[in-house]
Amino acid sequence: MVVATKNQGKVREIAEMFRRRGIGVKSLADYPEIPDIEENGRTFTENARIKAETVAYRLGVPVLADDSGLVVEALGGEPGVRSARYAGEGAKDHENNAKLLRDLASKLTFPSMRLGVGHPPVWSKAAYVCSLVLTDPTQRQSILFEGSCEGYILGEARGSGGFGYDPYFYLPEYSQTMAELPLEEKNKISHRALAFKQMMELLF
Ligand code: IMP
Repeated sequence: MVVATKNQGKVREIAEMFRRRGIGVKSLADYPEIPDIEENGRTFTENARIKAETVAYRLGVPVLADDSGLVVEALGGEPGVRSARYAGEGAKDHENNAKLLRDLASKLTFPSMRLGVGHPPVWSKAAYVCSLVLTDPTQRQSILFEGSCEGYILGEARGSGGFGYDPYFYLPEYSQTMAELPLEEKNKISHRALAFKQMMELLF
């Protein structure tokens, strides 16, 4: 399966989900001739569709694209579709994370709240959202699958797994951040995993 992304964090997670089905994955790193795709949609779904359709019609094979991001309640839904470039075009994960905490700190009078005994203080409710679009150019068809996963933003990083905002995304049910969960566990509960599960149910 060709996955229209260069994000190595996404590739790792999606490859692991397909591996369990005996399906190998190629990413845009395997197609250097495909130029960068401008993600100018207003929603996760529009962006996923732009990526899947651009690559599928160019290569003539089915292509899967993921557009995803972090939606933070106290920031009115930001960074949303700008999650990858929140701190600027080409921003690194640690730069986006630093901006997230800066923005929250400047917005909130009392930054931290308690979720109850045994939980660390958190700054805001948040959700990860994922739109997966699978495009089959021979059928001229795109199919959408969506998933989301709720959590809270922590004021300090915990864990070294995952990617992006994971060290700051706290899951009360696990008393851990997404970056503390083993990949196997993240791949059962994440926004991406939930969208992926729907796709597999339709395909197999
Ligand atoms: P996209 O490549 O335009 O879809 O942007 C995705 C961005 O959203 C990533 O660069 C991360 O900043 C964030 N993101 C999406 N999914 C995850 C996740 O599973 N963990 C952490 N950050 C994520």
